[in-house]
Amino acid sequence: MPDKAILIVVDGLTPATFENAVGDRSAPTLSRLADAGVYRRGVTTFPSLTPVCLTSIATGVHPDVHHIPHLVWWNRDERRIVEYGSSFGAIRAAGTRRSIRDTIVGMNQQHLAKDAETMYEAVDAAGKTAAAINITCYRGAYRYLPTVPGLAPATFGPRRFFFYNLYQSDPIGAPLSVRNRAAGSTDGYAAAAGRWLVTRDGFDLLVFYLSDFDFASHKLGPDGAHEALARCDAAIGSLVDAAGGFDEFVARYAILLCSDHGQTHVHEALRLQDHARNEDIVTASNRAGMIYTTDARAAAARLDAVAGVDVAFFLEDGRVVARRDGAEDAAILDDYPEGRTRVEAALRNPNAGEVLVSAATGWEFADLGGSHHAGGGSHGSLTAGDSEVPLLGIGIDPPGRTVDLKAALLAHVLRRAAVPA
Ligand SMILES: [Zn+2]
Repeated sequence: MPDKAILIVVDGLTPATFENAVGDRSAPTLSRLADAGVYRRGVTTFPSLTPVCLTSIATGVHPDVHHIPHLVWWNRDERRIVEYGSSFGAIRAAGTRRSIRDTIVGMNQQHLAKDAETMYEAVDAAGKTAAAINITCYRGAYRYLPTVPGLAPATFGPRRFFFYNLYQSDPIGAPLSVRNRAAGSTDGYAAAAGRWLVTRDGFDLLVFYLSDFDFASHKLGPDGAHEALARCDAAIGSLVDAAGGFDEFVARYAILLCSDHGQTHVHEALRLQDHARNEDIVTASNRAGMIYTTDARAAAARLDAVAGVDVAFFLEDGRVVARRDGAEDAAILDDYPEGRTRVEAALRNPNAGEVLVSAATGWEFADLGGSHHAGGGSHGSLTAGDSEVPLLGIGIDPPGRTVDLKAALLAHVLRRAAVPA
């Protein structure tokens, strides 16, 4: 096998949707990859929300180490809300300029823990070439100015870096990613950058992130976004074509394919703020919430009879307490995939609230702007539906947890570099 690798991340792709698309061969590229590889279901981190999950994939650690807690959180040092883009309304409520800045550069430069190494930092430091396309956790050693001066501050990414036309390491003449999100223009940009890189064989490790599927799935439900899945399949197919065909593609690169989290149907929404004291700070979005409070036990108890709340977690005397319908029992955690490990890691994140809340099946928590996806799909909770992801490996055995993807990729890409010549 070659020692080059590509990690393909399809945001929000559930195991069932992947398995069905491969089972009836409605996704031709994914089907060929599945024929050639090893498939399993795996588990992501908690809260099962994109900024948290992509950061765990890129750094190989849970949020206790990488420090990104949620889509929206309270920054204790700066005494302000950080909002990474729950919705346009939530971005407006948190301050548009600041939210965009937090999402584009703050997450990587300030919020991501300094000692959580990204896989790009590891690969570039070993003298190989890391490449990242559109993934929100991108920190690397190379400084980039925005393509439009003044639009955003300088940032630091991998040796080859393409980020929604905002930053790019090489001029590739790709169309604008923000043209028409619903029609797949973001993934169109990603595909253009990916084709450019594969055509030149210009990397040792490429992380190829497709975000449009999740966007469609929130609207149409996790099993309804067929057009978006077809476009994902075509985007991956365009990488295959750029390599000169399927056999050349898998001969040149080991491939891992995954999603960052699952999705489940949601029918109802509630405001978690309505069930907290005025002096408590509630940050909620999708199917996870956090409460910043001086009395965690009381804040969790206030949620006992609230329809839409499945379970609340907090630390007491250094121990994890799980509370569901007024009952407290550590065994509650065993009802969820990797429940104990994931809840403990989420609570031990210094940026997390004192109480974490996981939504009940079918429910969502409205965000700062009051938006939700009731009638469509959502994710964020500890349940299997939100937490399980498809994991496919060609040339690399797929690990059972997304936090282990980094180690699997580095073992493959750096194995020669690790042995002195
Ligand atoms: Zn989502």
